Amino acid sequence: VVFSLFSISANAQSKAHLDKKKPIEERITLLMNQMTLEEKVGQMNQYNGFWDVTGPAPKGGSSELKYEHLRKGWVGSMLTVRGAKQVRAVQKIAVEETRLGIPLIIGFDVIHGYKTLSPIPLAEAASWDLEAIEKSAAIAADEASASGINWTFGPNADISRDARWGRVMEGAGEDPYLGSKIATARVKGFQGENLAANNTIAACAKHFAGYGFAESGRDYNTVDMSHSMLYNTVLPPFKAAKDAGVRTMMNAFNILNGIPATGNSFLQREILKGKWQFDGFIVSDWASVREMIAHGFAKNEADAAEKAVKAGSDMDMESHIYVAELVKLVYDKKVDVALIDDAVRRILRVKFELGLFDDPYKYCDEAREKAVIGSKANHDGVLDMAKKSIVLLKNENNLLPLKKSGQKIALIGALANDKNSPLGSWRIASDDNTAVSVLEGMQQYKGNQLTYEKGTDVTVGKTTFVQELIFNTTDKSGFEKAKNAAKNADVVVMVLGEHGFQSGEGRSRTNLDLPGNQQELLEEIFKVNKNIVLVLNNGRPLTIPWASENIPTIVEAWQLGSQTGNAVAQVLYGDYNPSGKLPMSFPRNVGQVPIYYNNYSTGRPIDSDKNVFWSHYSDVEKTPLYPFGHGLSYTIFEYSNLKINKTSFAKGETIKISVTISNTGKYDGKEVIQLYIRDLAGSLARPIKELKGFELVNLKKGESKTIHFTLTEAELGFYDNDGNFLVEPGTFKVFVGTSSTDVLESEFELK
Ligand code: BGC
Repeated sequence: VVFSLFSISANAQSKAHLDKKKPIEERITLLMNQMTLEEKVGQMNQYNGFWDVTGPAPKGGSSELKYEHLRKGWVGSMLTVRGAKQVRAVQKIAVEETRLGIPLIIGFDVIHGYKTLSPIPLAEAASWDLEAIEKSAAIAADEASASGINWTFGPNADISRDARWGRVMEGAGEDPYLGSKIATARVKGFQGENLAANNTIAACAKHFAGYGFAESGRDYNTVDMSHSMLYNTVLPPFKAAKDAGVRTMMNAFNILNGIPATGNSFLQREILKGKWQFDGFIVSDWASVREMIAHGFAKNEADAAEKAVKAGSDMDMESHIYVAELVKLVYDKKVDVALIDDAVRRILRVKFELGLFDDPYKYCDEAREKAVIGSKANHDGVLDMAKKSIVLLKNENNLLPLKKSGQKIALIGALANDKNSPLGSWRIASDDNTAVSVLEGMQQYKGNQLTYEKGTDVTVGKTTFVQELIFNTTDKSGFEKAKNAAKNADVVVMVLGEHGFQSGEGRSRTNLDLPGNQQELLEEIFKVNKNIVLVLNNGRPLTIPWASENIPTIVEAWQLGSQTGNAVAQVLYGDYNPSGKLPMSFPRNVGQVPIYYNNYSTGRPIDSDKNVFWSHYSDVEKTPLYPFGHGLSYTIFEYSNLKINKTSFAKGETIKISVTISNTGKYDGKEVIQLYIRDLAGSLARPIKELKGFELVNLKKGESKTIHFTLTEAELGFYDNDGNFLVEPGTFKVFVGTSSTDVLESEFELK
């Protein structure tokens, strides 16, 4: 097969694959029949955007080589090319100057919006609002596609229980059920109904797999876990993304059980492409093919290429190793050309599905780029998402909602006047300092007297070498002014939390307290005025035990993107009644991490439904500070009447559960009703609680509704260590309520 490729003459190419009426698989065959081995390997090669394509060709260094490869047809994809004009120019080289004119697929990290930024993904997850999350991804796709991009490296489907890991901001939190629903919503949002439309883009579920379980929360670190944990906790969101039709997946930097994910045949070939029959393609993570050498898994570049391709990694992102090694490996009979053909077919399939062969420039529409990016509709969309992402953690003394007039409000904290941090990490295309700040948001409510004092800076710069943030621990010169403002106020709103780049890739922390001297500022202000509303801005759960004990009102506002200040102000003033619920448990201190709601019981329970066991620390309570699923409203929801339609069920029967919920408070509101189960005994030990359903319900004040859930075998079963899905008879508890710990309880028998 290999040698026959050389009989193709350079000018003999046929255009039959461009016939739109032919089925895609046939078009791929027609094209592949004409491809040399070098051209095939070229499709498996992805380069980072490397020069101003509209200017002269680059001279020297790796840019010149990349440019040369591009013109030869040895580049299948590029990432992080900025803007429709640049994409058009680079696409023109691929389409008009290479022998076969195969268009590039252009990837980009569209993680929470393109230019108009939605909340960081962890914040969006706190909405539990799948429709809103899908819409938010669709807005991101709309803007990115108008800028030439046809493929995003999202959603991040990594489950993580470790807030030290900086990349928790990119995911959907700790729970595989919620994570699966959100991965599905994001895939649908990015890809839409029709992948070939010019406003939809291919999605990429990442990082396959286990990346969120890095030892000690240190990014890129080793992962070691049982297969049942892998099947039950890590893989479900990827499976859900696959079932939703995700067109690509990205593997991961980490070693999983001794084998780097990029060279992991069990993950990629056996599970993803085998068991799950995934027919899209897998891209490596950035230079992760090369990293296998450092991992002590590959001897050299050729060995890395061989191991990666055999394990099912179809495209090499920026290792430059496939393009350098694969052709020779095939000639040397170390790699079967069938593996190359399979990878190329997968990559071309996605390119055909995107419609790139039919119109390679359809994403490069500068007029649409101008009209769509930053449009009013997109800003309205991300504002809606931002409001839905806010979680009311605590609201004693009814400080919230704020009265609209006649109050003196002191707004304190550098983050309140920060237009950058609230944009969060991962925002390659957006401009700095473009968020509406909390100060700007609050200033729009003119009925009150508002004074602002920053109190203290969070950071005072960056180290020169590795650009690590330097936190302000010494300068307290702003404290006095802030205290004076607080003294004279009816209510103090303090916006404290993390710098926008404290979370994200490579940004793990060992300390999850408020950074710098913000905690000290908080305690100083508290001495002069106890009426504090603490608004948190952060990319991960923080440890705030003192605040939780002392501050009457705490609002988790994450990093909410472009519309941050408007969303926060509307919630504080009660124009939006918060309904978010935590997608990750908040620890009391870092020593508790990993802490999560769906753990196993020890053999020494005290009250296992409340997750209290003899397996505790002598210096802190066993429970989290705020549990998974926690979040309050300005109104009050009461649960009653939990019913299961029968006490005993045969296998295969649907279990029907209902509960009554009443809004007994003073405001209209929305509640996320959560359903958990506990399988009391299984052939593998079962967790004390597992989320298996949720419903968002709007209730006017005084209103009651009966809400129905169903459970089927899909929710009752679990995977064993060999990946078999088991549904076992026995007693199941059912919990329905407002968080993972505040629930009504019943049970049934499965025969
Ligand atoms: C990250 C990926 C990202 C890629 C491309 C890597 O460092 O781990 O999530 O998609 O870079 O920017």
